[in-house]
Formats: sequence, structure tokens, C-alpha cells
Amino acid sequence: MRPDNKKIPIKWFLFAAFVGLSTVFILLLWLFQVFFLPAFYDGLMQVRAGNAAEELLVASAEEDFTEKVQEIGEREHFCVNVYTVTDKVATQVQSTHMGHACFLHRMGTEEITRLYESAISNGGEYHERMKKDEDTRLLTIHAEYNANGEQIVIFLDNAVEPVVATTEILRVELRAISVFMLLLSAVLSFILADYISHPIERVNKQAKMLAEGKYEAEDSTVNYREIVELSDTLANAADELSRVDRLQKELVANISHDLRTPLTMIVGYGEVMRDIKEENTPENMQVLIDEALRLSSFVDDLLELSKIQSGSREKKEEIFSFNDEIEQIVTRYRHLKEHDGFTFSYEADEGESLVSADKGMIWQIACNLLNNAVHYSGESREIAVKCKLLNGEVRFEVRDYGIGIAEEELPHIWERYYRAKQNHRRTVRGSGLGLFIVRELLELHNARYGVSSRLGEGTLFWFALPLVLPPDAE
Ligand code: ADP
Repeated sequence: MRPDNKKIPIKWFLFAAFVGLSTVFILLLWLFQVFFLPAFYDGLMQVRAGNAAEELLVASAEEDFTEKVQEIGEREHFCVNVYTVTDKVATQVQSTHMGHACFLHRMGTEEITRLYESAISNGGEYHERMKKDEDTRLLTIHAEYNANGEQIVIFLDNAVEPVVATTEILRVELRAISVFMLLLSAVLSFILADYISHPIERVNKQAKMLAEGKYEAEDSTVNYREIVELSDTLANAADELSRVDRLQKELVANISHDLRTPLTMIVGYGEVMRDIKEENTPENMQVLIDEALRLSSFVDDLLELSKIQSGSREKKEEIFSFNDEIEQIVTRYRHLKEHDGFTFSYEADEGESLVSADKGMIWQIACNLLNNAVHYSGESREIAVKCKLLNGEVRFEVRDYGIGIAEEELPHIWERYYRAKQNHRRTVRGSGLGLFIVRELLELHNARYGVSSRLGEGTLFWFALPLVLPPDAE
């Protein structure tokens, strides 16, 4: 496991992220309110002054120019000076004075000329923020020809102190707000981070417990969909793990038991037959053979399982008559089992039953299903095999009238190591691998398969393979 002390816990990460975010917003607020406000304000004032100058220029060609100058000056709180320039000589034609702080009426000719020249070199309009003593003013100079062809120079002067005062007030206010907001955001971030991270921490804790083999899903009021899903997945994984763990333990117990019992029998019978001549009978010999066969089939299952698990089982593609093979298998079972009182019926639909499959695997599947039918057929000892031709498929069915399988166990019987509860008797040979192997082999063939069963009434296993045309049919 990676050392977790190198990574910060999600709670503190979220906390830092929230506080960081609030800090960025506060900084943006400062930037806009304090640093950009004068620039915004100046821009706005310049546009207003520019518009007023345009209006005055138009008015300068009209009769009521004097009234207009007065009106605009009052409306906008501008001090206005208007000059006409003829042969480089400027003559003041209009003037309004709106407040004593104005610079316009206190400027010398030199400064006026400088401002005029700046306007000319700037394409006719020039703005300057001017600071003298305590006062700051915005000066706008607009030099252009009016409709009468006269060159008109308009000087406007307006106060900008309010914005200086405003930014100062804002700065003080913002300082207090910023401190307050930072504290508040720290507290809220902490609560929020705790609230968000809590379910994640909880699931993490549960997952750690799962690794130790314990798992308890708990309900919580704070739950997001992903966490609920994750928690469910963990609960399922825990179920699955504990089940596999239990099955595996059972398997080890079963395997040792299943290996030991035949071995004990073989050794016991062998010793008796060695020491006592009369015990050397065909019946006793048969016991030895049966027990050895039992061992060998058990080892076969284990080998098959390991092949399947390592993925080294390769499927051959052979075209053969399915019904013929099944018939052979059934005949073989009849020979083997009839003297034990088993009856095997076999029915097959008329017609070609060609399939493309691995013959060896089909034998193994059918034999495993038949073995189960034999083992679990109870007192009836009656087994019915059918091969049906249906919708382009050949369907194999094996039915017994034995102990059956409980409904809640049906979904599990295909799992590895699974043995139904009622079957843990010594007389029933089984590793719980047979149906798992059947399922794996059927899935290699993309075959459909299924089971229906009722406790005490018997079981029907089936699988279906697609039919193929004979190779020379095309
Ligand atoms: P086993 O080697 O134990 O037979 P299988 O994988 O073949 O293992 O079968 C799994 C379980 O399914 C068996 O232990 C048994 O409980 C149940 N089962 C399989 N076939 C039948 C059947 N024909 N009738 C009743 N139960 C069956």
C-alpha cells in the first residue's frame, strides 16, 4: 500500500480549494473596485466631456450659442471656455464658470497653448487629468471647424475629486469586508469540506475494513449517487468475497475429504487383499477400481478447472452429427449404469443435426450433466435424454426425477465450488466444479443453456447449439 501521509486528505484539499477560491474573488473585487475604478471613471468622464464638446461645436454655428454654453455647463457641471482661432490668433468667445476650484480660469497663456497643441497633435481631442494642490480636475480640449467654417477650440474643466474620495472610502470598507469574508469563507469552507468529504471518508473506511474481511454498510444522511453506488459495489464485493472465501475453504475441506476417503479405501482393501487370500475377490477388486476411478475423475475436474482458469483451453471446430454423439454417450451410460438400476431413455428428432463444435468438449458437457443426473436422481434412477431440432438449433435435454434444486440455489449452481446445501453427503461425489466447467465450455461455444428444477421433483438441464449445413452443401 502507498504511504498515505504524502497525500493530503480530501477534507483539507477541499478546504484549501474553497478558501483559495474566495481569496481569488476578494482579490478580483479589490482589483475592480480600487485599481480599475479611477480608470473606468476617467473613461466615462472623457466620453461625457467629448459628447458635450461635440454638442458645443454644433451650437457654436447657431444663434443661441451663449445660452447653449450656459445650459451645457450647468447640466454637466463643467466650466467652459470657447475660443475661435483666426490667423493663429485665438479669441475667447464664450465662458462659463461653475465652481471656484476650476483650473481653466486660472491658467496662463502658455499652458492653454500647450493644451491646444496637444489637442491638435492628438487629432482634435485631448484629455488631461491635472493635479494642483489638493484638487484634481479633468481637462478636455476639443479643436475643430464648425458648420460656419470657423476653427473652434473648446476647453472643458470638471472635477474628479469624488472618485478619489470614493476609492478611498471603498478601500477602507473593502479592507474590513475582506477580513470578514476571509474569516467567513474559512469557516464555511471548513463546514462544507467536512460535509462533502464525510461520505468519501466513510466509504474509504469501509473499504479498508473490507480488506480486513469486515464490511458493514451504514446509512448516512449525506450521500451522493456515486457514493451510494460505490458503497453498494463494496457491499456486493464484500458479499462475493466472503462467499468465495467460504466456498474456497469448503473446497479445501471437500478436496481433502474427497481425496482421503478413496485413498483410505484403496489402502484398506489393498492391505486386506494382500494379507488374506480369500479376500482377493472380483468384488473387492471392483471397489479398488471404483475408488481409483472416483479419484481420477476428481483429478480430471481439477485439471480442467486449472486449464480454464489459465485460459489454455482452446476450442476445436469440428463438424459432426450431434445426435450421433449423444446417442453414443447414452449407450455408454446404459452399459455402465444399468446394472445399478438406472434407466436411460433417449429420444431424438428426425433430421440432420450437424453442429460445428469441439467434439471432446461436447462429450465432457454431456457427461458432466449426465453424471449429475445419475448422482442426484434419488430413488427413481430414471434419466431421460432428448435431442430436439428447433429453430435452427439442436437442443440437448437431460431430465432426472430426483432430489431437485431449491429455487434460491438455482442461480448459484453454475459457480465454481458451489454445492447445494442438501448434497453434502459422502455418498454424493462432487467437487462443485462440474457445472462450472459445463458453463465455461458452453460459453466458449456461445451456446444457450439453462436449468429448471423443483425440489423433490427433479431437474432438467438443457443447452442449444446452432445447426450448420454440411460442408459440401454450398
Ligand atoms: P458437483 O461436483 O457437486 O456435482 P456441480 O458443479 O456438478 O458439482 O453441481 C453443483 C451443484 O448443483 C451440486 O452440488 C448439486 O447440488 C447441484 N446439482 C447439479 N445437478 C443436479 C441435479 N441434476 N439435480 C439436483 N442437483 C443438482
